[in-house]
Amino acid sequence: MVSVEVVRGDITAENVDAIVNAANSSLRGGGGVDGAIHRAAGPRLAEAGGALAPCPPGAAVATPAFDLDPPIRHVIHTVGPVWHGGTRGEPELLASCYRASLRVADELGARSVAFPAISTGVYGYPPDAAARIAVDTVLTTPTEVERVRLVAFGADTYELLSAALRSRTE
Ligand code: ADP
Repeated sequence: MVSVEVVRGDITAENVDAIVNAANSSLRGGGGVDGAIHRAAGPRLAEAGGALAPCPPGAAVATPAFDLDPPIRHVIHTVGPVWHGGTRGEPELLASCYRASLRVADELGARSVAFPAISTGVYGYPPDAAARIAVDTVLTTPTEVERVRLVAFGADTYELLSAALRSRTE
């Protein structure tokens, strides 16, 4: 049974086997959490990502973590949906990001994984709905991962993820 924690901070400083990147389909880096991960991992991350691109929304692929500090060994790149009002399959695609990332983590043998709040930045997904999908999906996906950390960069995301987790576990 996976244990899920909500924490606040910078995902590149997490003490886990694998961190998930909210990437774009080029897998060569971008802004937000993607930029932070690429800066911390160094230029080899874009080379390795580019070789696996394009990655469609809802899918996930892994690269090494390069210059990121141990114990982080893997970066799992997933591409969230861009929010278009919710009628273009966005909820299913967002859930798929969490499921596909956990499947990749299982293939890598990662036992602890940190996720950012996928799609809630420039991709515009409403953060409350995104928080519920994040929590529901990690709690209901069969996985060998033992520890999932949902990493909020800001206070609002932290509150939304915490509330979603409380409502699922109380
Ligand atoms: P997307 O394109 O999927 O919307 P963003 O990177 O724009 O991705 O935003 C996703 C979430 O990641 C936002 O909640 C943003 O505040 C958060 N974020 C930005 N930088 C970091 C970081 N260093 N660690 C964790 N989360 C971050």
